[in-house]
Amino acid sequence: MRLILATSNKGKVREIKALCEDFEVIAYSEIIDEFEIIEDGADFKENALIKARAVFNALSEDDIVVIADDSGISIDILDNKPGIYSARYAGESATDKDNLYKVIDEIKAKKVESSPAHYTAAIAIVTKNSEYVVHGWMYGEAIAKAVGDGGFGYDPMFIPLGYDKTLGELDDEVKKSLSHRAKALSLAKIILQTL
Ligand code: IMP
Repeated sequence: MRLILATSNKGKVREIKALCEDFEVIAYSEIIDEFEIIEDGADFKENALIKARAVFNALSEDDIVVIADDSGISIDILDNKPGIYSARYAGESATDKDNLYKVIDEIKAKKVESSPAHYTAAIAIVTKNSEYVVHGWMYGEAIAKAVGDGGFGYDPMFIPLGYDKTLGELDDEVKKSLSHRAKALSLAKIILQTL
């Protein structure tokens, strides 16, 4: 089955392709020009649906399956911020590094070295006749420094529960086995088999 991904985030595309080896996965930007999608939903679920619907409508082909991932990190000591604003926490055109260091500075400002935190991923599946959303979570600790350059986004500051290294340091296979995205995609695959 061919899956069209409603994202051009390189980190997500790489991970989703690696996690969906039984499917042909194509980022929508490989088919049509990238366009702006206003993510004004109230939560991960709404934003995932907004993205998947936007790409489904833009492609205007009946026989396609579009999936979208809306995800982010929530840090306890920051009242669960940045949450759904993870991609633009340091501003609309912020880079992953800008966002990472803004969060690190905010944790430091609380005079602690770390805080419990979790990642959330909502995966939306949109076809001509149906819409579904599933979720996955990964719990751990957000530390007030960046270590390692693996993964993407906030991974250099996130230590998964049961580990003593950040996702920036751990092998890709570790993240693949326990990430929010991997958990949500394992549920999404069950739905995709029924389509
Ligand atoms: P979205 O594209 O609006 O869903 O925003 C996702 C943002 O959340 C990314 O740009 C990252 O900042 C962050 N994020 C989501 N998943 C991950 C992950 O697996 N590792 C690191 N950062 C992530």
